[in-house]
Amino acid sequence: MKVLVLNCGSSSVKFQLVEIGGVPAAPVGDRLLAKGLVENIGGAALLKCEAEGKPPLRESGEILEHKIAVERVLELLGRPEVGALRDRREIEAVGHRVVHGGERFKASVLMDEDVLRGIEDCFDLAPLHNPPNVKGYRAVRDLLGDVPQVAVFDTAFHQTMEPQAYLYGLPYVLYERHGIRRYGFHGTSHRFVSRRLAELMGRGPAEPGLRLITCHLGNGCSVAAIRGGRSVDTSMGFTPLEGLVMGTRSGDLDPAILLHVMRKEELGPWEVGALLNKHSGLLGISGLSNDMRSLLEAEAGGNERARLAVDVFCYRLKKYIAAYVGALGGIDGLAFAGGIGENAPKIRERSLAGLAALGLELDAERNGAARGTDAEIGTGASKARVFVVPTNEELLIARDTFEIVSARRPS
Ligand code: ADP
Repeated sequence: MKVLVLNCGSSSVKFQLVEIGGVPAAPVGDRLLAKGLVENIGGAALLKCEAEGKPPLRESGEILEHKIAVERVLELLGRPEVGALRDRREIEAVGHRVVHGGERFKASVLMDEDVLRGIEDCFDLAPLHNPPNVKGYRAVRDLLGDVPQVAVFDTAFHQTMEPQAYLYGLPYVLYERHGIRRYGFHGTSHRFVSRRLAELMGRGPAEPGLRLITCHLGNGCSVAAIRGGRSVDTSMGFTPLEGLVMGTRSGDLDPAILLHVMRKEELGPWEVGALLNKHSGLLGISGLSNDMRSLLEAEAGGNERARLAVDVFCYRLKKYIAAYVGALGGIDGLAFAGGIGENAPKIRERSLAGLAALGLELDAERNGAARGTDAEIGTGASKARVFVVPTNEELLIARDTFEIVSARRPS
C-alpha cells in the first residue's frame, strides 16, 4: 500500500510517500519512495523533493495556499524524474500528523466530519498547528476524492498519564473550564522510540512493568517516562514550551518571571510569547545560535556563552532523567533520539554524567562511535541499558494509517 504522509504546518507542508507491504499484524518492507517539503506557503514558496535513487529536486514559485501546495506535491510525485507514482490513484491512504487531540483522541483515527469537528474543538489549544491540519485534510479530499485519511496525534500517546502527572497546582476550575493540564507532545516519536528500544533490548513493547525513558532531542526537546508501553509522564506540558531547554524555547521557568519581565520591559502577551518561544533556550543563553552543532563548535573554540548554553541544556536534561527514574521506581532502558540525541555523543555524556548510582553508565567508546543508527552505548555493567535510537515519526504515521485502513477492508 502506498501511503502519503503529510505534516501540514502554518506555512509549510512536509511529505513522505511510503510503501508498506504485508498485513497489519506483520507489515513488511517499509520503503520510503520520496520525501520533501514545501515551505513559505503564502508567498514565494520553495519546493524540495528527494526520491529513491534520483537526484534531489528544488523548485521555487508562488504558492498561496495549502491546497495548491498539496497539488504541487502530487504533481511532483508523478513526474518521471521523481518516478514515485505513475498515477495519483496509486495513493491508497493518507496519514496526517495532527498536533493536538486534546482529551478526546487517545489513538490514531480514520478521519471524517466528526473527527474533523474534534480537531477543530482543539483549535484553542493549538491555534497555530491544528488549523493547517484541517486544511491538509480538505485539500486531499478535494484532490484525491474519498481516499481514506487517518489522523495521528502528537498528544495521543501521553493520554495514558494519570491526573497526578497531568494536573498543575492551579485552581481545578481552570482544568474544567479551559482544559488547562499537561498534554505532552512528540508522542509519535516517543511511541516509535520506546517500541524500538524495547525491541533492541529483546523485550516486548508492552511488557508489564518495563520501565523506559526516551529523550527526543531535536529543535524541540522532550523526555518521556514509559511503563509497560504506556506514557506515565512527559516534560512538555499544556504547550510544547515546558520542560527541557530547547533550540529557541525556554523550557521550565518560574512563572513569576513573566509578570516581572512584562512589567520591566513593557511587553504584552504576544511579545512575551515570542520571547519564550523564539528568542530563548540555547539561542537566548548563547546569544549565538539555536543549533547544537554550532554551539559545540563555538564551545570548543572557547566561546563561554556557548558553553553555558550547553551546560544548562545538559543539566536540565539530567534532572528530568533522574526525576523520571524516581517516577518509574527504577529504570530498565533509556534511549536518545532526535538530531541532537542521535548525533551528539558529548551531550549524551554530559547529561548522564553522575547518574551511575541510578543505573545509567555510558561506555565512552561506544558512545563516541554512535551516530545516526541504532546502537547500544551503555557499559556491560550499567543496570539500565542505554541506546541511541533514530526516531521515525513518519514511518509510524504510515504504519498506523496502513493498519487502520487495512482493518476496515473486507478480507
Ligand atoms: P527537528 O526537531 O527540527 O526535526 P532535528 O531532530 O533535525 O530537528 O534536530 C536538530 C538539532 O540537531 C540541531 O540543534 C542540530 O544542531 C542538532 N544536530 C544535528 N547533527 C548534530 C551533530 N552532529 N552534533 C550536534 N548536534 C547535531
